[in-house]
Amino acid sequence: MRETDLIRMIRGFAQQLPGRTGLIQGVGDDCAVLRPRPNEDLVFTTDFVIEDRHFTTDTHTAGDVGHKALARSLSDLAAMGAEPVFCLVSLAFPQKLTQPWLRGFYKSLMDLAGRYKIALAGGDLARSERITVDVMCCGRTARGRAMLRSTARPGDSICVTGELGGAAAGLVSKHGPNWLRQKRPQPRIEAGLKLRTIATAGMDLSDGLSLDLYRLCEESKCGATLDGRLPIAKGASLEQALHGGEDYELLFTVAPQVRIPKKIAGLPLTRIGAITNTPRKITLAGEPLRPLGFDHFR
Ligand SMILES: [Mg+2]
Repeated sequence: MRETDLIRMIRGFAQQLPGRTGLIQGVGDDCAVLRPRPNEDLVFTTDFVIEDRHFTTDTHTAGDVGHKALARSLSDLAAMGAEPVFCLVSLAFPQKLTQPWLRGFYKSLMDLAGRYKIALAGGDLARSERITVDVMCCGRTARGRAMLRSTARPGDSICVTGELGGAAAGLVSKHGPNWLRQKRPQPRIEAGLKLRTIATAGMDLSDGLSLDLYRLCEESKCGATLDGRLPIAKGASLEQALHGGEDYELLFTVAPQVRIPKKIAGLPLTRIGAITNTPRKITLAGEPLRPLGFDHFR
């Protein structure tokens, strides 16, 4: 497939999506142009998906890779309580990669983009030994309303959406709903938009509860006690729920006087503990909990 054909295909996909208000120029020029509305903040994130690091071509289809590449970035928008606006998708791939693979990749990515009404506004293409995808996403929130990691306060309840450990269990079992969850994570965009009104702080769980909670505590200069009642996914272990990555659920804190709804955007919410005033000290049922989640550089 020649680059001009590939660009034509990508452009065709991009045009099928409804443009978001404010996006003045999408695919086709040197830059995308966005005109921000008054009283809004824009949030930006970028995430890599790399062959043999995040997926292998033996276990993941082109569609799985396209879905996951966008889902990871969308999950970061969900973590900020942001509404998706546009994405830029850069793809580097070896010459041997087939046209059906490329079509499958973009088709799946655009299916997910369509579900969350995020426009594909551009990107880049290059040759490389391994398939490397970088998806940058831009989202918007009302001015000053982005959900941050740094604003949890001692006494706040710690909560999570959905269930934990499923993606890690799926990586081992390689079948069933947990494997599907590993390959096709669902970004919690709707939940993030709703949580923004009740949460004091929040983030998404990409690298495992123990490590991500540690990061939230570090940013908020506080600690945490977990009571040991975790919403563990069926087929997953406590270890996987604590330290397994890629669940892409939301971790958030709520002021003690605020009532926590049982569900939000169709997802169950579970209170798993409370924020304390002892910086970076996290305990589970009274015992110290070390941050053992996934760290690329460990
Ligand atoms: Mg994140």
